[in-house]
Amino acid sequence: MANKSSVLLIYTGGTIGMIQDASSGELKPFDFKSLTKQVPELNKFDIDLSSIAFPKPIDSSNMHPNVWVQLVKTIQSNYHKYDGFVILHGSDTMSFTASALSFMLENLAKPVVLTGSQLPIGIIRTDGKENLITAIEIAAAKEKGKPIITEVCIYFEYKLYRGNRTFKFNSAHFDAFKSPNYPALAEAGVTIHYNKGNLLKPGKGQLKVYTKLENDIAVLKLFPGISQKITSAIINTKGIKAIILETFGAGNATTQAWFIKELQQAIKKGIIILNITQCPEGRVIQGMYETSSQLKKIGVISGADLTFESAVTKLMFLLAQDLNKQKTVRLLQTNLRGELTQE
Ligand code: ASP
Repeated sequence: MANKSSVLLIYTGGTIGMIQDASSGELKPFDFKSLTKQVPELNKFDIDLSSIAFPKPIDSSNMHPNVWVQLVKTIQSNYHKYDGFVILHGSDTMSFTASALSFMLENLAKPVVLTGSQLPIGIIRTDGKENLITAIEIAAAKEKGKPIITEVCIYFEYKLYRGNRTFKFNSAHFDAFKSPNYPALAEAGVTIHYNKGNLLKPGKGQLKVYTKLENDIAVLKLFPGISQKITSAIINTKGIKAIILETFGAGNATTQAWFIKELQQAIKKGIIILNITQCPEGRVIQGMYETSSQLKKIGVISGADLTFESAVTKLMFLLAQDLNKQKTVRLLQTNLRGELTQE
């Protein structure tokens, strides 16, 4: 049938692709060639489904930017052959991967849906089957011959989220992800309801794939009583190009003179300091309180409502492009892939 959608399933690892060995009880990755044996429901789909499994499936806590490069290259080389992509991935770092991929794939005009599960697919109570089946359905979904979703997202426990807005907030419940600063893209119930007004528009030009990432980034998470010794050690780490400053509330920090001076010296050396809040919901507003005015004055960049995952991967993406500092700073504060709400 001409209108039959085709979906490529890419298995990177994680709990979802595991089955319990009948004799030892151990969880081990299953052979993806027998996917339909594990999930016979897939045979009922009117979708052309192909799969690729990474030779060594990983627990996503071992995720690395090199794997993100492998993933975008796989999508690039199969881009014209499929209508959509589903990436099976461990939930632990899924939000980092989804955020990274969103930046690395410019002008995306097809769905890239990441999913996984809290229980392996071979376990009776698994959440993996529903997640997998609906993620495939979303990746195949079209309206008037065009894909409905044209961005990198996460499907988990009946909700589709913009990937770069999510974080993993629960390690025990099936409902593992939250997207506090951006509403869900779709909800799956009896039907899949797409919240059309929340979706990104498809990219207009050709797909552009970025394969360089810079990981010389440090994180300084503030707490009351943080010492100058530790602060200084982090800020003066040799070779760092950017520091993510995790502040309180609406982007506030201690006003102690030594702290401001340490930051100021780093900025003078050309290091970018990006201010994001420790609050999962809300945003940084530098200058709202006296405790953030100084930060603004010395040139700390506001990360608005970026998640930590998006802040890390956006910096990795921008720093690798050898742009001048001014342009890097401008793009950091620009909404590139729906990852931040501009003021
Ligand atoms: N540790 C696992 C992983 O992230 C957990 C999961 O798959 O959900 O790979």
